[in-house]
Amino acid sequence: MKQMKTYTKRDWHNPEQLTRQQVGGGSRIMRFTEFERNELLFRLADNSRWVTDSNSELGPCREWIGAISSRGRNNYKSGYGTLTHETVSYSAHRISLFLSNPQFDQSLHVCHKCDNTLCINPNHLFAGTARDNIHDMISKGRHSHGDDHFSRKYPHKMTRGEAHVTSKLKNEDVLNVRALYASGMKGADIARKTGLRPMHVSKIINRTIWKHI
Ligand SMILES: [Zn+2]
Repeated sequence: MKQMKTYTKRDWHNPEQLTRQQVGGGSRIMRFTEFERNELLFRLADNSRWVTDSNSELGPCREWIGAISSRGRNNYKSGYGTLTHETVSYSAHRISLFLSNPQFDQSLHVCHKCDNTLCINPNHLFAGTARDNIHDMISKGRHSHGDDHFSRKYPHKMTRGEAHVTSKLKNEDVLNVRALYASGMKGADIARKTGLRPMHVSKIINRTIWKHI
């Protein structure tokens, strides 16, 4: 069986460290025969239409009207067009850039000049680093934050408290700490009694952590 490497959150905070397998939002490396490239070109054309009211400087966008990926790494809904070729799904805009320039460095992300994530016009696309893409996204306000963030939209899907793999505490321990505090015991004494670090106790009491219970 093939050994899979699990990537940690830290990998995503150091985009330069990302390996080739992780690039482009987890896209596969594209290698197609000429026949496949022709077929893909037809499918791209079939599943998109010109949008005339878009960015005039860059020229019209070619907007994807086919399937849209439901899960991205940064946003719950990434909003990128997707197409499947021989059971592997690819981002439509990545395929589009590849077909117009098969030599582009696939270790890079494919970013939009036009800020239209559904656009597959190769003239509106450029290959950039993960950092370019993230900065590009944040500067254009496309990243999820506040009430749009995954943790607020889908709170029931978040791993919190004792369900979290690194949790050493149980719900009852936390409630116990808060009960002791409510009964008038000082934080330092609670720390001594429970064996927790004082800072940890203070965070539990102030609900900086374990605020869901
Ligand atoms: Zn465009």
